[in-house]
Amino acid sequence: MAVMAGVLNETQRHTLEAVCDTFVPAVEYDGDDATMKAYMGRSAGDMQVAAQIEGLMAQAMMPEDIAGFAALLDALAQHDFASLPLEIRTAALHQVSASGPEGKLGVKMMKNLTLLFFYALPDERGQNPNWEAIGYPGPISAPPTAEQAPKTINVEEVSGAEATLTADVCVIGSGAGGGVIAAELQKAGRSVLVLEQGGYRNEQDFKQLELPGSLELYLAGGLLQSEDGSIAVLAGATLGGGTVVNYMNCIRTPDHIRREWAEFGIEGLDEPEYDAHIDAVWERLTVNDSATHQNGSHRKMIQGLESSGFPWKTITRNADASCDDVKTCGYCYTGCQRGCKQSTMKTYLQDASDAGARFVVGARVERVLTEEARATGVEATVTNADGSTTKLVVSAPTVVVAAGSVESPALLLRSGIGGPAAGKHLRLHPASLVSGVYEDAIDGWVGQAQSAVSYQFANQEGDWGYLIESVPMAPALVATGMPWVDGADHKTRYSAGLKHMAPFISVARDHGEGEVAIDNHGRAVVRWDLSDEVDRRLLVHANVELAKLHRAAGAKEIYTLHANPVRWNEGDDFDAFVEAIESASYDANDIPIYTAHQLCSCRMGSDPNESVANGRGELHDTKGVWIGDASAFPTAPGVNPMISIMSLAHRTAGEILKA
Ligand SMILES: Cc1cc2nc3c(=O)[nH]c(=O)nc-3n(C[C@H](O)[C@H](O)[C@H](O)COP(=O)(O)OP(=O)(O)OC[C@H]3O[C@@H](n4cnc5c(N)ncnc54)[C@H](O)[C@@H]3O)c2cc1C
Repeated sequence: MAVMAGVLNETQRHTLEAVCDTFVPAVEYDGDDATMKAYMGRSAGDMQVAAQIEGLMAQAMMPEDIAGFAALLDALAQHDFASLPLEIRTAALHQVSASGPEGKLGVKMMKNLTLLFFYALPDERGQNPNWEAIGYPGPISAPPTAEQAPKTINVEEVSGAEATLTADVCVIGSGAGGGVIAAELQKAGRSVLVLEQGGYRNEQDFKQLELPGSLELYLAGGLLQSEDGSIAVLAGATLGGGTVVNYMNCIRTPDHIRREWAEFGIEGLDEPEYDAHIDAVWERLTVNDSATHQNGSHRKMIQGLESSGFPWKTITRNADASCDDVKTCGYCYTGCQRGCKQSTMKTYLQDASDAGARFVVGARVERVLTEEARATGVEATVTNADGSTTKLVVSAPTVVVAAGSVESPALLLRSGIGGPAAGKHLRLHPASLVSGVYEDAIDGWVGQAQSAVSYQFANQEGDWGYLIESVPMAPALVATGMPWVDGADHKTRYSAGLKHMAPFISVARDHGEGEVAIDNHGRAVVRWDLSDEVDRRLLVHANVELAKLHRAAGAKEIYTLHANPVRWNEGDDFDAFVEAIESASYDANDIPIYTAHQLCSCRMGSDPNESVANGRGELHDTKGVWIGDASAFPTAPGVNPMISIMSLAHRTAGEILKA
């Protein structure tokens, strides 16, 4: 990957190199396996990891963020960090981490970036030298050619310093919600223009590589987190949005959620008419369970559930059953190379395009334009293929905001519309992971990303609880989530354990809420923490129950992701382990928590102080602006949300046509 111009001074650079070599040092190995010897002897410096991190900073960070990072390096340099022996450097990083929230966050970020590049940086052949030692095969098939997988969506190019376009409807964002609304409105005869900030990438671009996959297909390159680091935010940012990278778990909106949403003033949600919206989406995505097969991780999860007497279900997926190939499915978080995933790119956006809709990609909408509380269009910055930018003004009387629950509220806030609730009530379905290491090989990168779910604890605290699911193993993401004690311990455990590791996750319905605000540059800032007592109890409960499931499934070693390791090995006292899980810290950056479901930040409802849009989806304060994505949910559904997002968007499309 290209390394950009430097943003650090010589001392800072030298210190960063030493930091990276502390997280991943060359360590002694006295065995005679040549692959292991090379892996153990390879440091972060041997792969120029620090230069990669600096390149990423130059590309993606604002000067004030870089200054914060540089200040941490300066503080270390004051103690001559780079010339200290490895043991002292290791202790120093732990000390900085223990010194307070900022130190903890800074050390975590440097550790995560080091491990990300060390395990995911591909060479020119698309290989990483560490994979063989950790048992990871890397990509197992090449993408199809451009002829085999042509790009068939009608993407327009703009050029010059400024450009203007006109449409009946401008849809901002092409994910689950935006895709459905674009297709339904174009089909009904409106001229639709879709603006998507990500690129147009299809099967020919999906390389089964974690690092380029993250950087090219995810919001903020997959590195987004809440302001204090308490939760990592995973969201798609490409033509098709999250539907291109997601795990295809299709769940209908639960009945009690429909009743709850109806109480917010979304009429018909608890009536058969909403079933018709779900059915339409279900059919278009060809949702089925005939192609669902359980991989190694899921088989262990099911074994644990059954041994515990807990029910589980095979999931339904939006997969083309005729082409599903379990061998390649484990890489589908970097896009489905076979085109089997029925993302909006393969379905609704294609329908919209075939019916005449136009698309501009690389188009970041800066603000919605209004006059006298009515939409008149949008203003966007388009980054063209040659790197130049064009200021694009779209004239459109109807604007659909569907940029996802992080970016939609930021857009409203930049535009000064949406009222007092814009960005408030953010829900994230916080997810926690517990690892089990088994005698037999799991190879968690083989097989379908998700294939089973258990609702055993979905109502653990009344309407709040969590689902039990599993996820595919992306080696660098796994490495960043694992407890790190020192470089030698990391390399020994990671290389021995990865192939045998099964991840069980909890996905909780959040009781508390967070917020999206904007910073001085107008960028989205996610604020969320685990201060809600119910959410905290559920997370602790989930960590305990997932650990018990691993034990019931026969794991030899079980550990939570706490930075201070909470680990059980066969033969250890399990009750003591459970107590350790319960008494561990769940504060920010003491345990990784993830969200792949961002919701509710521009919610629908009847009260303009508590919601952004009315029960039809149109802004309370601005005519012609509609909320079309997951941010419109009044409350968290507590299940994987794609089908609910698309069904609600299907309903909103109808409301736009009636307006
Ligand atoms: C790894 C992963 C796995 C998941 N698995 C599942 C699953 O199995 N089942 C399930 O139900 N859900 C799953 N989800 C969640 C689901 O994919 C998302 O909830 C859903 O895609 C959100 O839809 P949306 O329309 O709100 O936004 P998105 O699909 O995120 O689309 C928003 C789009 O807007 C674009 N955008 C943002 N800002 C701007 C701007 N200013 N201008 C122009 N464009 C902009 C973004 O680039 C993005 O493409 C998963 C998500 C992830 C990340």
